[in-house]
Amino acid sequence: MTGSALIEVCEIFGPTIQGEGALLGLPPVFVRPGGCDYRCRWCDTPYAVDPAYPHERTAMSATEIFAEVRHLSGDRPLTVSLSGGNPALQPLEGLIALGRAAGYRFALETQGSVARPWFAQLEVLVLSPKPPSSGMDCDREALAAAIEAAGGAAVSLKFVVHDDDDYLFAREVAACFPRLPVCLQPCNDKPRLPGRRGEVDLERLRRLIAKTLSDGWYEARVLPQLHVLLWGNERGR
Ligand code: SF4
Repeated sequence: MTGSALIEVCEIFGPTIQGEGALLGLPPVFVRPGGCDYRCRWCDTPYAVDPAYPHERTAMSATEIFAEVRHLSGDRPLTVSLSGGNPALQPLEGLIALGRAAGYRFALETQGSVARPWFAQLEVLVLSPKPPSSGMDCDREALAAAIEAAGGAAVSLKFVVHDDDDYLFAREVAACFPRLPVCLQPCNDKPRLPGRRGEVDLERLRRLIAKTLSDGWYEARVLPQLHVLLWGNERGR
């Protein structure tokens, strides 16, 4: 355990409902570490990625972070959602060990570009390989290594889908891991328009549902980002 290593943190908030992926609707406390090895075109958390927002990050010890999690959760062990940025870049094993000792559970979402041995200490690992519209290349070997590292954690795949190429990418990657649950999520690129709050692109959601059904991909769940539907991309939600 490296409990003394400092972790770059952008924000800690909650409990609030999980708006996407495998824990949709459950009320975790969120810990959002800073830093990402990707630069997706439609990233909705640039403050957690771009060093141009350095004031957004605080170096905290695992003990300090966990004290804030306990405070926010009223000392009731719940799920801690590790989001990003890419949280796999940060030394989170000490935080996970502290939390687990107190009965907390940990879920982490990452694009799967970096595998860590401590993934096996997670309850839930959501891997969100980035599709062509992100402008990034998915490293499939790294993705497979992340799945392998997760050991007994519940692993699922989540794909953001902007267009047909993204859909085909999701189909292809999911076919490589047929035992993993799959969630498809329409890309919300409207936040990039000046002066607009984030909002779910309902037309794209409808098209994605229609495509998935006509394609007979009945194993995939199609979900909008619930928090964006409710509150736009407001931070702390
Ligand atoms: Fe943003 Fe996630 Fe892409 Fe990183 S991987 S740039 S956090 S969308």
